[in-house]
Amino acid sequence: MDIKNKVAVVTGASSGIGEATALMLAKAGAKVTIAARREEKLNALKEKIEKDGGSALVVPTDVTDKDAVEKMIRETKEKFGSVDILINNAGIMPLSFMKNLKTDEWEKMVDVNIKGVLNTIGGTLPIMQEQKSGHIINISSVAGRRVMPGSAVYSATKFAVRALSEGMRMELSPSSNIKVTSIEPGAVETELPNTITDDEVMENFKKLKEMNMLQSEDIAKSIVYAIEQADRVNVNEIMVMPTEQP
Ligand code: NDP
Repeated sequence: MDIKNKVAVVTGASSGIGEATALMLAKAGAKVTIAARREEKLNALKEKIEKDGGSALVVPTDVTDKDAVEKMIRETKEKFGSVDILINNAGIMPLSFMKNLKTDEWEKMVDVNIKGVLNTIGGTLPIMQEQKSGHIINISSVAGRRVMPGSAVYSATKFAVRALSEGMRMELSPSSNIKVTSIEPGAVETELPNTITDDEVMENFKKLKEMNMLQSEDIAKSIVYAIEQADRVNVNEIMVMPTEQP
């Protein structure tokens, strides 16, 4: 797909991978809807994109709110005329050991990382099916392929995102010309660990931070790679790890 003049929706665009992806897509000529909860961060990103000559629509959205997500997708279609690319990136990672029973955090992870992804898919699919084209990119994780102590629930949500991606690809690519890609990053230097409240897990996490972690732009590049392939090519999965991560 030629990114120029395409319309992309990026969730979790207020920081990290989502912000870098929105910037990169806008630089490549896409019109981008940037969604997340922190409006001031989104406005700052919009300013940056427009300074570079791009177009951005800010829609403050909590992805767990189905009505708000549907409204955000409708606004995108009304403003830009289509929805060609959906980047399901919003996510949280309050890692914890099961014995510490952080049940509220388990529930939140399921709400944001799984239900949030389903909400945007539900809002976008009717438009892509009518267009008979589109590309849905779901941000899973290396934790969607392996489980570590402390990552049980987070991994469960990211395994779910991979399963969803593969199921959707099998159903939608052949019949509706909608491509589906799962992106599986290793450790990326972002705000993501800020949601960890389990001190024991945080101790382990500090060791990870000593290595040369990936930068958000590294993941944005892999997303752009998946989008830019010829019509006949569906990039099913991309796993990107820091060289130093075992
Ligand atoms: P960040 O914390 O920087 O970004 C997370 C984004 O998600 C923020 O923009 C945040 O915005 C948004 N978000 C969180 N909750 C909600 C919500 N309820 N509604 C809407 N937006 C929400 O982390 P990353 O950039 O690292 O994370 C992006 C994705 O990449 C996540 O899905 C994460 O699981 C995945 N990932 C990250 C890895 C890493 O090492 N960093 C490795 C593998 C995968 P706001 O608070 O403004 O709503």
